[in-house]
Amino acid sequence: MFETLTREADDPLLALTPLFKADPNPAKVDLGVGVYRDDLGRTPVFRAVKRAEALLLETQETKAYVGPEGDLAFIEAFWNFVAGEGRDAAGVQTVGGTGALRLAAELLRRSGSSRIFLGTPTWSNHSAIFQAAGLSVVTYPLFDVASQNLLAGEMMSTLADRAQPGDAVLLHASCHNPTGAVMDDATWAAVTEMILRKGLVPLLDSAYQGFGTGIESDAAPLRRLLDQVPETIVAASASKSFGLYRERTGAVYATSPSPATRDKLKSHLVTVGRGSYSMPPDHGAAVVRTILTDPELREDWRTELDEARQRITAMRAILAEGLSPLSPALAAIATQQGMFSLLPLDERRIIELRQRSGIYMPLSGRINIAGLNSGQAPGVIAALRAHAA
Ligand code: PLP
Repeated sequence: MFETLTREADDPLLALTPLFKADPNPAKVDLGVGVYRDDLGRTPVFRAVKRAEALLLETQETKAYVGPEGDLAFIEAFWNFVAGEGRDAAGVQTVGGTGALRLAAELLRRSGSSRIFLGTPTWSNHSAIFQAAGLSVVTYPLFDVASQNLLAGEMMSTLADRAQPGDAVLLHASCHNPTGAVMDDATWAAVTEMILRKGLVPLLDSAYQGFGTGIESDAAPLRRLLDQVPETIVAASASKSFGLYRERTGAVYATSPSPATRDKLKSHLVTVGRGSYSMPPDHGAAVVRTILTDPELREDWRTELDEARQRITAMRAILAEGLSPLSPALAAIATQQGMFSLLPLDERRIIELRQRSGIYMPLSGRINIAGLNSGQAPGVIAALRAHAA
């Protein structure tokens, strides 16, 4: 039977890392991988995470299962981090933000939703996650790479023309991956109005809170939407905001004004998780819970996250200034938010950059701004200007 299988293609983004590792060029730069890097190129464990881990090592008394919904204190504290205090939701702990999206997709399907609208480009794994759960994906252009403009008009007209009651709409809560494009308040208001008017379900993907302009300000559009739309789903990841990537820490939350409906929602989320992996892992969620519920650790974590964001903002300014002569549109890199921007480079140039200058990015032209440090920036800018001209 296995002989009949055809080989699946490797994920092009994940395939970039071995290529980078194999390159002997001492000046090589990895702008591909989607993790934060400090000015020395490291992805450090947050100080507060180390301290929380030490505390957990000392105090943890059992490795018995955490229960199907996960760590209840984590679920509550993480929801307050994302949504602010005082909102009710049915939440369960998940295997990273990806697990949250997958559970969200299963919940949509169980609720009678069969389609989800995705703006393109979007995170490369979105389509695969939703299709694996049996949803049909409807795409619309959301960003023009040459002009670096968000195509808010196209988003609104596609939803107006094609969306049907019960369809889901995926929205990046902040720090759009892969474009860094910021959706302004007027566009958030227009999408919210469309969601209400058409009876759509918003699925908010919150994976980079704190990397845009600040922990609270990044969450503001999501919170405004939660204030206005009664039925929503939020898929939240702790991977970036707490630097816990490999610990696979996240949560999914569904809102409804009715306590009885929230109880049903939770039962479905738990049932889907139980049928997939039974119980979520403990460690990352225990770390996040420890940090968020300890004022001193929380402050230390916040300081370090602020520093990471400030470093990205500084690199954005340097890149924008250096690349503006190539195209005035690239000045937008300075005001885009989060780890990523998308460069208007064709595949031939991207491969040339790898081979001649040791600069690695996926063929989409997405760059991780945090992959760059101040020492490398002038060389990277010069190479981009030389190859992209
Ligand atoms: N959503 C977006 C937009 C992402 O970029 C990512 C990860 O890169 C995720 C969700 C999933 O994150 P996690 O690693 O927590 O599964």
